[in-house]
Amino acid sequence: MIEIDEHDKIFVLTGAGISAESGIPTFRSGSGLWEQYRIEDVCTPKAWRKKPGLVWEFYSARRAHAKTTLPNDAHKALAALETTMGDRFFLCTQNVDNLHEQAGSHRLTHIHGELFKSRCPDCDKVVNDDKVYRDLSEVGHCTCGAMLRPHIVFFQEVPLELDAVEDRIVKSTLLVSIGTSGTVAPANEFVNLARMAGARTVYIGLEAPENHASFNQVILGKAGEVVPHVFQVMG
Ligand code: NAD
Ligand code: ZN
Repeated sequence: MIEIDEHDKIFVLTGAGISAESGIPTFRSGSGLWEQYRIEDVCTPKAWRKKPGLVWEFYSARRAHAKTTLPNDAHKALAALETTMGDRFFLCTQNVDNLHEQAGSHRLTHIHGELFKSRCPDCDKVVNDDKVYRDLSEVGHCTCGAMLRPHIVFFQEVPLELDAVEDRIVKSTLLVSIGTSGTVAPANEFVNLARMAGARTVYIGLEAPENHASFNQVILGKAGEVVPHVFQVMG
């Protein structure tokens, strides 16, 4: 049980594990989409420079697949917790799918970008875009003329809205991390920042994450089974 009293401010960090039960393969599960591609070919600034067609092929396939998925009980439970806690709740996801939004979450940040948006590589304008491109010639262009890229933070790029996220962490009294292996920086450092600020820290997931020693409590289990029953809101 994670008890939440009327003074608590909660910061929730989610990773690929929370979407696994919705049918979106995690990064390291060794199944599905990721298996057919090497990260360095589809998810780096160099890949985008050298082979934008392959990058778009990969993210188009992810869009097509993600469109067939629905939020699970863990996504829904977090949306319900937000309804109960209001501004004392904040969600930060490393996921690029939109399952948190589909479940009804509002107070959330996607630090690794969003699958259903594209961005201008030149002027940084972000647009809604859920198209599945079969060919590079179909990809849309910005008003400035440049070809759009996926609104995804590639490896070696800096995550989005980090200042706001870190500000939120240091003001929180409780950090709960769900379904993230603790291997991708800087998100794997959030728990230490929270602890330095005096917060309690809990991990929920199938196995202990790499940074497990930084958590006060580790609860092992599937997100869809644990999250709906783990929060006890006292005020
Ligand atoms: P990861 O794949 O490294 O780790 C996933 C973690 O989830 C593992 O520790 C695993 O034990 C756990 N897990 C698996 N199934 C679970 C379940 N049913 N319930 C609870 N936990 C479960 O993922 P990461 O740490 O998020 O890092 C991977 C990177 O790849 C991120 O940067 C993310 O942006 C990206 N990614 C995103 C998605 C998505 O948008 N859904 C999917 C795959 C990868
Ligand atoms: Zn532009």
